[in-house]
Amino acid sequence: MTSSAARSVPPPTDLGEAMARIRADGGRITDAKRAVAELLFATDRALNADEITTAVHGIERSVLYRCLAQFEVLGIVEHIHLGHGAAVYRRRGLPTVPVACMVCGSAWEIGANETQSLRDTVLERTGVTLDLIHFPLTGRCESCQEAS
Ligand SMILES: [Zn+2]
Ligand SMILES: [Zn+2]
Repeated sequence: MTSSAARSVPPPTDLGEAMARIRADGGRITDAKRAVAELLFATDRALNADEITTAVHGIERSVLYRCLAQFEVLGIVEHIHLGHGAAVYRRRGLPTVPVACMVCGSAWEIGANETQSLRDTVLERTGVTLDLIHFPLTGRCESCQEAS
C-alpha cells in the first residue's frame, strides 16, 4: 500500500465525513467496517491489529486488513511503523506524532507543534518536510537506558 495517494486527500474532519467517504467509495458499510472506523475515531493513538480485533469482537483478520487498506486509500487511516513488528494504525489528522522505544516497544504521542523547531530546521537545511508519522521518532526509553 502506498500512502502517497492518500496523502493528497485531506483527513476527514470527523467520523461522519469518514463514513460518507466510505459510502461514496461504493459497496455497503458492514457492521465490522463501521465498528473499526468508530474505534479509530474514538482513540487518540495508534492501535495494532490485535487491539482492533479485541475491541471489534469477532472481526476476522483478513476482513480487518481489507478494511484498513480501503480506509488508507480513502485517506481516513494511516499506518505507522512503530517498531520492527507489524504496522499500527490510527486515524489521520491527529495533532500528535508518535515516539517509540525501540527496545521495549513502549510508545507515546507528543504534540506535533512541539516538533516544530526540528521541522523548521530540517526544512531549512534540506528542503525536506518531515512526516514524523509513517516512521515515528524512535530511541531508547528511560527504563531501557537504566537496564543497559
Ligand atoms: Zn524501553
Ligand atoms: Zn509503511
